Amino acid sequence: MASRVVTVERPPRLRAVDTMGPLLIVRGLLVTARHFFRNLFAFMRGRRTIATILYPEEKMAWSPAMRGMPVLVQMENGKERCVACGLCEWACPVDCITIYPAETADEIERYPEIFDIDMSRCMFCGFCEEACPEEAIVMSQRVAIATTEWRGSLWHKRDLLVPVHELDPRLRYIRRGYDRPDVPTPAQTAERLEKR
Ligand code: SF4
Ligand code: SF4
Repeated sequence: MASRVVTVERPPRLRAVDTMGPLLIVRGLLVTARHFFRNLFAFMRGRRTIATILYPEEKMAWSPAMRGMPVLVQMENGKERCVACGLCEWACPVDCITIYPAETADEIERYPEIFDIDMSRCMFCGFCEEACPEEAIVMSQRVAIATTEWRGSLWHKRDLLVPVHELDPRLRYIRRGYDRPDVPTPAQTAERLEKR
């Protein structure tokens, strides 16, 4: 068999700057020290440049993009917006939503007689929110939901309902994200009517 010479590409020799690891470590420590003392002096002067907060006494102001646990939208009349279509239940990749539909008294619409979410399985993916055609289930900013027993992780409809005005920032955010038309808030509508 004929043989041939294969030339293997070697990585270029390390440049001097790449061998300056200890110097770079010192540089990193100086940056850390600069931030530490800047924040310390600012704190002593009563200014808040520090990212650390004293949780749970203090709470962060989260962006509407934040995805906490999913909750149900409660309309102004106290009822859920959900029509028990089951799309969120179908979209949930871990099957943690359970819905038992029922008909309203006028037999025109459906509503969820039972709407449970097993939060021990939920992975905060937001697929339920994306699948819902009614904007009836949205990701909230609730994250403090730890429990020591399985029963405590099962959230029922009455626990999941959140008034619509509290979810307004998230609803507006997802309308932009899913390219849905935005709906004016009651305050914006009243302001517009006043200007007429
Ligand atoms: S956020 Fe994801 S895992 Fe949790 S209930 Fe919704 S679809 Fe299921
Ligand atoms: S997709 Fe929306 S309307 Fe349909 S069952 Fe789920 S929450 Fe209710």
